[in-house]
Amino acid sequence: MQFVNSTKIITVVKADDLPQLKEAGAIVRQGGLVAFPTETVYGLGGNALDPEAATKIYAAKGRPSDNPLIVHVAQPEEIEGLVAKIPAVAIELIERFWPGPLTLVFSAAAQVPRRTTGGLSTVALRMPAHPVALAFIEACGCPIAGPSANLSGRPSPTTAQHVMADLAGRIDMIIDSGHTGVGVESTVLDVTVSPPQILRPGGLTLEQLREVIPSVTVDPTTVQDTPPEIDLVRAPGMKYKHYAPKAEVLVIEGKPEGIAAKICELYDTYISRGKKAAIMATTETAHYYGQRRTEIVGTRADLGSVAVNLFDRLRCFDAQGVDVVLAEGVDMVGLGLAVMNRLRKAAGYRIIKV
Ligand code: AMP
Ligand code: MG
Repeated sequence: MQFVNSTKIITVVKADDLPQLKEAGAIVRQGGLVAFPTETVYGLGGNALDPEAATKIYAAKGRPSDNPLIVHVAQPEEIEGLVAKIPAVAIELIERFWPGPLTLVFSAAAQVPRRTTGGLSTVALRMPAHPVALAFIEACGCPIAGPSANLSGRPSPTTAQHVMADLAGRIDMIIDSGHTGVGVESTVLDVTVSPPQILRPGGLTLEQLREVIPSVTVDPTTVQDTPPEIDLVRAPGMKYKHYAPKAEVLVIEGKPEGIAAKICELYDTYISRGKKAAIMATTETAHYYGQRRTEIVGTRADLGSVAVNLFDRLRCFDAQGVDVVLAEGVDMVGLGLAVMNRLRKAAGYRIIKV
């Protein structure tokens, strides 16, 4: 246990570390904020039924208050008091995919504060598949509002160190359980419409959802390669600047060899102009770059490896004082859909197609 500024850091490796989790639960019950691990990214937890806690979450993150918070539960049955109606398709999805990286948007019950839902009449719910997350929610004894535990606009946190870098001194406690597993946030699926629609691609893939709902649709703003028009965005979070390191990011999309050739050309141009450039590459293409500053994010053969490391690599360029990140695009299949959604946003839609 240690303190960084006024934030207490505890290490919880196993869900049966009850004294520490009870302390975390007590903080939340008293209206405080605790960052906790999930299988996707670290969340910033507060009592979802307490509007003051929601206000504190928005303040700690510097998040606009119309960007709603996902509410986390430890058991599927706990959603009953939180939703006005449970469509049949939701029951099927919960049986198949919970606990897991799938957030479902329902019409909200009256007891859910509108400050938690960003003023919406809907509520987004998820049961995370991380033993420490579940034990933490149980120790709190209430549903937990938990957005990603980063400063608004920055890459989401996949380690407790990322949370510390952004939020130390702004929240009461961080539960450190090491690196998260999936690396990108949950898939947000609206089940108030028929057929259900993906509002944010994430850790549960479109292909997996199609096994249960063949007709599932994807909100076109989440997969487009130009900035979405604000009025058309249905997951309010998606209209804000997101996931960005301090460096400028450019995404280069196309076939791997074409991408590599373009990145070499751009890199050399930036260097000749006195800029510090860096390349976010994949295992398959890293050899093209020779002595140029390169970080490998993962392998194209397993896009899950890219998802796991994406946010950490984006943050590491800041530590290196890089001015420009030249990031390789990957195929928009499987977890590649979530990866490209995040990467294009990190780049502010500065995309070069080759
Ligand atoms: P984060 O909290 O950073 O994981 O982001 C949560 C995402 O879920 C944001 O894009 C929110 O806009 C979206 N979200 C949360 N609640 C709702 C809701 N009731 N309706 C639509 N989108 C939501
Ligand atoms: Mg977030």
